[in-house]
Amino acid sequence: MKVKDIMRKVEGFAPLGLAMSWDNVGLLLGDAQREVNKAVTCLDVDENAVNKAIEIGAELIVSHHPLIFRAINKITDPLLLKLIEHKIAVISLHTNLDVAPKSVNHVLAETLGLTVIEHLSQETGESWHRFSLTVPVDHLEPVREAIFAAGAGLIGLYDSCSQSHQVRGTFRALEGSDPFIKSEGLASVEECELEFMVDGSRLGATIEAIKNAHPYETPAFYHYPVSNQNPAYGLGLVCKNDAGLSLSGLQNLCREKLHNPAPRLYLLGKDADYIPERIAVCGGSGGSLIPVAGRKAELYISGDFSYHQILEAGLPLIDAGHFFTEYPVVAYLSQKLQEMGLEAVALELEKHKGYIM
Ligand SMILES: [Zn+2]
Ligand SMILES: [Zn+2]
Repeated sequence: MKVKDIMRKVEGFAPLGLAMSWDNVGLLLGDAQREVNKAVTCLDVDENAVNKAIEIGAELIVSHHPLIFRAINKITDPLLLKLIEHKIAVISLHTNLDVAPKSVNHVLAETLGLTVIEHLSQETGESWHRFSLTVPVDHLEPVREAIFAAGAGLIGLYDSCSQSHQVRGTFRALEGSDPFIKSEGLASVEECELEFMVDGSRLGATIEAIKNAHPYETPAFYHYPVSNQNPAYGLGLVCKNDAGLSLSGLQNLCREKLHNPAPRLYLLGKDADYIPERIAVCGGSGGSLIPVAGRKAELYISGDFSYHQILEAGLPLIDAGHFFTEYPVVAYLSQKLQEMGLEAVALELEKHKGYIM
């Protein structure tokens, strides 16, 4: 399978358009035309990840943290040179995977055995649009099918969402035009107005699909951005404490399931045997979501909390580590690549530099 075909499949489970504007995701190094048989997945593309890829003869590394984050103006970094020398491509799925329908946080919740209730925050890098289009009544269905196939009409856990109603349209064909409905002077036609929601990253494909499926020479449509967000995406999760574990029990759970030898529990006024009903989780650096977690849950599990964030937190916290809360996604990435028919190996936990730190 070619790198570009893998990227197409990636769009299916972690659309690049979901990434925050400051992020750098997708194919960051390598030839999109190159054939891939084997891949290594990892959290960070460090020497161990690159060596592992060379050792097993992998043509691709898929990481969560971007290989290249800030702009570079020269390529002298030994790691980049080694990747280039061995023709190893690198795909990084960062904030797009943090907010995807199955995200880093879903994998974290699954690893901890917690049932998901809702997103912690609707924040994503995606813009959402309302789209309106007119189409002759008897052409409604093929056009509708084409826009759904282009990825429009996804709302939360529902796809193929649209609304339509009959309208009376008018037009007058000007010189040089080739109208689908021939008429002298002002034409009056039975049309449907078809409306639906579409992600910003699918707008281009949707318009393309309309142009291909619509009978008119010049289809009439408009779209505008909306301020609400697609509930399919979001950052962090609120989960149920099904097992009824106490704060110290949950600290132990993080130690055991995330393999962090020392997750840090901040009681912040609660007893260690306090049993939270709802638990917020966010893999990686989740400190900025502490205020939201305080409104939606009684405990927040994440990583990278700062001293002042902890002081001001209105709920108990478990800092289970940036690395440890995100590492479970490495196995998930391997699984996604295996589903594509590739041989994929996850870089071992203890091989990551983030583990030894
Ligand atoms: Zn992340
Ligand atoms: Zn991270």
